[in-house]
Amino acid sequence: MITAPVAVRSRPVDSSSIQTSSASKSSGRGGADGAGEITTASEHAAVKRVYAAIGVDCDPDRAAYPDRLTWRGVEALPRLFDLHDIKWTFNVRADTQIRDYCGSASYCYERFAKLWDAARGHGSAVGWHVHYFDRDGRQDTSERCIEENIELGAEALEFPDIVHMGWTFQSEFSVKCLARVGVRIDYSPLPRMRFGGNGGVDAYDWSSFAYRPSVWHGVRMIPAYTFRHALLRRRFSTERVMLTTTTSPLLYRSLLRDFLHTGADFFVSYFHADELVPALGDWRDRLYAFKNLSTNLERFRAMAARQGYEVVFVNVRELAEILFGERRSRHA
Ligand SMILES: [Zn+2]
Repeated sequence: MITAPVAVRSRPVDSSSIQTSSASKSSGRGGADGAGEITTASEHAAVKRVYAAIGVDCDPDRAAYPDRLTWRGVEALPRLFDLHDIKWTFNVRADTQIRDYCGSASYCYERFAKLWDAARGHGSAVGWHVHYFDRDGRQDTSERCIEENIELGAEALEFPDIVHMGWTFQSEFSVKCLARVGVRIDYSPLPRMRFGGNGGVDAYDWSSFAYRPSVWHGVRMIPAYTFRHALLRRRFSTERVMLTTTTSPLLYRSLLRDFLHTGADFFVSYFHADELVPALGDWRDRLYAFKNLSTNLERFRAMAARQGYEVVFVNVRELAEILFGERRSRHA
């Protein structure tokens, strides 16, 4: 799945500190009496780590929408726990549309409560995914609609601290509202990407956002990785693109290669639950999409290792602590 933005010519800024392997050698000479000390030489290769956070937007299946809301993608999520040593961040849908279709904004949160408990139990995080829909299923970013959705959704999820926005839409007004209800982390930014919308939805503007964590009104903003790709640029008339983590490995490999060239020490990607369950619903399709995800993440580990990096998969709350916490300020 590809999100196509409007072209904005800019390179991302690598915010990370540059880490290098250090090689130290020390040698000792004998003293005046000629009793020489043992000469030692040691080399310590610094461990270079890339901290990776992968988000999952837990929306209803797009294949059945808008006639009804079905949740086959979310039902498939327990398979993610089979992937070794990977923590996830699950973004649970809660907003007025969920209330209108399902009777309660907390429908997804309550129906799949066991899944969220299992996720927390193995170190993953549970956050919030909120869309600003009007009654006709179009994007409505009026202040009234934003406020209503934020108040309703936050309460439905017991005031989450993490958000990943529907269509990645964010504004000064909405981020202030989110901060007011307790949100402290937003990992929606898509650096240098902007899209005017399609069919009344999917408009967002991150054209002024650089690839660098920053704080807006008390909310820690962590960008996902976007990159330039010649073929996709022609296809979508755009310069930078974001690929969801379930994208074909052939394409995703170019995103990973590009990322590893930056030397950055954090990586954020995400996908939608229904991408594990393609519209045709055949079990082989499901295996295939899931297979993309596992192939991409394994390849990330392997490509990074060849460059001397270890990929550590964390949830986005842990990533925020790494990027903004005490530790960072000591070493950055
Ligand atoms: Zn969504």
